Amino acid sequence: MEKSKGQQLSDELVYRKKNYFEVASKDERDAMFIYAEGYKAFLDAAKTEREACEAAVEIAKEAGFTEYRFGDRLRAGDKRYFINRGKSVVVFRVGTKNPEKDGFRIIASHIDAPRIDIKQNPLYEDSGMAYLKTHYYGGIKKYQWTAIPLALHGTVVLADGSKVTVKVGEAAGDPVFYIDDLLPHLGGEQMGATANKFIDGEQLNVLVGGLPYADEEVSEKVKLSVLSVLNRDYGMCEEDFLSAELCAVPAFGARDVGFDRALIGAYGHDDRVCAYPALTAVVNGESEHTVLAMLVDKEEIGSEGTTGIQCKVYEDLMEEISIALGANFRKVRAASKCLSSDVTAAYDPNFAGVYEKKNSAMISCGTAMCKFTGARGKSGSNDASAEFVGEVRKMFADAGVVWQTAELGKVDAGGGGTVAKFVAQLNIDTVDLGVPVISMHAPWEVISKADLYSNYKAFLAFMK
Ligand code: MN
Ligand code: MN
Repeated sequence: MEKSKGQQLSDELVYRKKNYFEVASKDERDAMFIYAEGYKAFLDAAKTEREACEAAVEIAKEAGFTEYRFGDRLRAGDKRYFINRGKSVVVFRVGTKNPEKDGFRIIASHIDAPRIDIKQNPLYEDSGMAYLKTHYYGGIKKYQWTAIPLALHGTVVLADGSKVTVKVGEAAGDPVFYIDDLLPHLGGEQMGATANKFIDGEQLNVLVGGLPYADEEVSEKVKLSVLSVLNRDYGMCEEDFLSAELCAVPAFGARDVGFDRALIGAYGHDDRVCAYPALTAVVNGESEHTVLAMLVDKEEIGSEGTTGIQCKVYEDLMEEISIALGANFRKVRAASKCLSSDVTAAYDPNFAGVYEKKNSAMISCGTAMCKFTGARGKSGSNDASAEFVGEVRKMFADAGVVWQTAELGKVDAGGGGTVAKFVAQLNIDTVDLGVPVISMHAPWEVISKADLYSNYKAFLAFMK
């Protein structure tokens, strides 16, 4: 039957979001599910920024990428990675296009995630149990981290300067760790408190032992037995915690969610759901541009320090690449374009009140572009120009990418920031693009396989 005139006009004029699962071909749907398997494996191998950096380098190496150091010669076709202190990595491919005229194509994502960091003098015994004192990292709802199995990951620098890696709670048969919560029977007062008072920062102590050391003479027998295990397995004594970076992360792995397996639950989708597609797009994609996938650290605490994106090292790297290609860095920057690739909040019908549905990212409707982030009148936002949004929009349209726009919550409901504003400071046009997440910053977050794959396709289109 022929469409009515009004219907034809409506099809022509009205903007409608599309569910990517619904509009994808059979082959493309299959590709989504296959791509998700690689992503889940990456998630399980990469629960900390150090592990994500290592896993990314592994993937790059397998594809023939080699390590780059400042001062190295570069020429078109080179496939390289630059490691910053083992915690961030930039994987890049040198293109044939003139960098002064066409710039670099940059995808900036982060590989740190909210977690529970262990303090520098953490170990104590109380009432027959040994615990580690902690200071949480990033924006968490503290109560979500109690009463779940935790794994301990990290790096310890021993007194002699040697370094040992700790990873307990991931392998089958490993013990796990735990943060206590109160039984409901005695939780009357706790349940009456506001959620940020359910559990105090100083109550986030990680339970690590309960076996008294068999010796009548010594005091703090449980603590001593924990230390004896740490000494046996890692050569540690208590003082070595002073120069340790240990953290507790959820011990569960990535799993499909739902009867139809459309979704993936995992720790740390924020922001590995963008880092992995950025990495694989640069590794697998074709481009005449010089393309960079930046996997940086410390975004969750403000992009500070030597591994956060505010560090000059990333600018230095881009300048070094420009110099190696005989290009003027100022011209390169001015011509470069960046996708600040970070997650956004997926509209959640269970919490509809904090969203403005028309402008929220809907699950499975594709990777989501945030023209602006920030809070209270866009404060702290990059706010990309209509011109740049229009340019990226055309790239996606030409490549058939299913995508959407997003805003993180309704006006004045809250907000958040990304690395976009720091890249933009370099005189590089930048816009935020990333996967919508359900329960962002929870120990286990949920995303859609369609959005993951859309993100990957968007990066491929952007690099071209
Ligand atoms: Mn993020
Ligand atoms: Mn985050």
